[in-house]
Amino acid sequence: MLLEKASSVLKRISHAAMRVDRSPDEIELVAVTKTVPPERIQEAIDAGLRIFGENKVQEAVQKIDYFSELGTIRWYFIGPLQKNKAKKAVELFDLIESVDSLELARRISTYAVELNKIQPVHIQVKLGGEETKHGVLPGEVDRLVDEVWDLPNVEIRGLMTIPPYYEEPEGARPHFRRLREIRDSLCNRGYAIRGLSMGMSHDFEIAIQEGATEVRVGTDLFGRR
Ligand SMILES: *Cc1c(COP(=O)(O)O)cnc(C)c1O
Repeated sequence: MLLEKASSVLKRISHAAMRVDRSPDEIELVAVTKTVPPERIQEAIDAGLRIFGENKVQEAVQKIDYFSELGTIRWYFIGPLQKNKAKKAVELFDLIESVDSLELARRISTYAVELNKIQPVHIQVKLGGEETKHGVLPGEVDRLVDEVWDLPNVEIRGLMTIPPYYEEPEGARPHFRRLREIRDSLCNRGYAIRGLSMGMSHDFEIAIQEGATEVRVGTDLFGRR
């Protein structure tokens, strides 16, 4: 059953990519496993999925430990990160997607130096006003990127956003486009930042049309939480 869901999501990713002349290989599928127990994650691994997203450090600890012998699995942190959990997050995650303040980035940097690790991060951008709580405002991205770029052992790989929910997925398109424009303007300022983490079960096809390099899918793989 999970195998069917995974193939269906992968097929939708391919179709969306091909419609806009993109290669499906440019797009990572992150299977969002918050609230999903290890047995079901194992099914996802059996179905060929390799990248998993968690939004709570505490919940992720045991799962990551459970699968630690399988060297090929990658774990992305996609939830709001409390500063006192930053150290654990650096220990555990291949990518931290929710950096939205210099203070948090500094903590990550400090622990990454201690652990002798280069920590890939995304900058989370708040689009669409009040409804989304976390993320840096578009007007503040340039400054945050300037500051975080210079921190040791932190590598900005991309931008991430969670747009407001729209009944009609098309509603999210302007936000996805905006994130891409922000990314492009960073590139024009000389930053080699490529990643665009945007799109969830409801709207990832639109996000792919607007340039997503990573989609985060929970419900369409594991069912309603
Ligand atoms: C839960 C979650 C997702 C997955 O959402 P679905 O609608 O279940 O696909 C993606 N991104 C973040 C940050 C999440 O918290």
